[in-house]
Amino acid sequence: METTEHRGSCLCGHCSFIATGKPVQVFVCSCIDCQQRTGSAFGVGVWFRMDQVTLPSEEFLKYKHINDKGRWVEHGFCPKCGSVFTWQAELFSGQIAFAGGCFREPHFGYPVDLFVHKKTLPKWVRFPE
Ligand SMILES: [Zn+2]
Ligand SMILES: [Zn+2]
Repeated sequence: METTEHRGSCLCGHCSFIATGKPVQVFVCSCIDCQQRTGSAFGVGVWFRMDQVTLPSEEFLKYKHINDKGRWVEHGFCPKCGSVFTWQAELFSGQIAFAGGCFREPHFGYPVDLFVHKKTLPKWVRFPE
């Protein structure tokens, strides 16, 4: 088993976490829920099995959301800075995602497997050359 540790945290550093080994899946998602959760055009989810992760020792808050498919998604966020750094979904039982942007180099560097919900990518997303 690969034992590489990937460390990350929320913006203020109050909630830090460790994921070990290779992620199960890496998504970029532009569903409406990810847009509103992040305040951006995309969510980046790096999914691990629960047995690969060490959650913050500090207490963090949770918010359970029912998506448009009627399934729950539970977000974990920092009580001090509000960063949503993790989430779990009814659809992916036994797994947990960390927000890709919460990992600090060189602790994470896996390619994105999938770009999902492209249809709801906002029309304003245009990258200058
Ligand atoms: Zn924080
Ligand atoms: Zn999404």
